[in-house]
Amino acid sequence: MVDNCLFCRIVSGEIPSRQVAQSDTAIAFRDVNPQAPTHVLVVPRAHVASLASASDSAMLGDLLAFAATVARSEGLEQDGYRVVANTGSNGGQTVDHLHLHVLGGRKMTWPPG
Ligand code: 5GP
Ligand code: ZN
Repeated sequence: MVDNCLFCRIVSGEIPSRQVAQSDTAIAFRDVNPQAPTHVLVVPRAHVASLASASDSAMLGDLLAFAATVARSEGLEQDGYRVVANTGSNGGQTVDHLHLHVLGGRKMTWPPG
């Protein structure tokens, strides 16, 4: 738990969120500023600053598998969805606690902005 980390504070329950799923190692909650009809953030319970500083490959595997489980439970599997890990400044990361965006419910465009 990092005291001044927004997502650590959401994981601990200190800051409320609209949770959609939990696992032993991660939680999933709705993004406060959704960019698609379904926009869920998948966050490891343990603080890791970003994908670039993640060294636990088992945790990363669990996180990605959990994102797919969340997408399925949100009804996104048939039409498809997008999973994004914005990383660092050029990646557009604004919260320095690793998270996967699960986006669905509309057709995504490519290339991303
Ligand atoms: P990033 O820009 O780092 O890839 O993603 C951070 C995401 O966190 C953004 O999509 C933003 O809308 C979301 N976010 C920021 N603050 C909060 C909050 O307090 N609660 C929730 N649920 N989402 C937040
Ligand atoms: Zn954190």
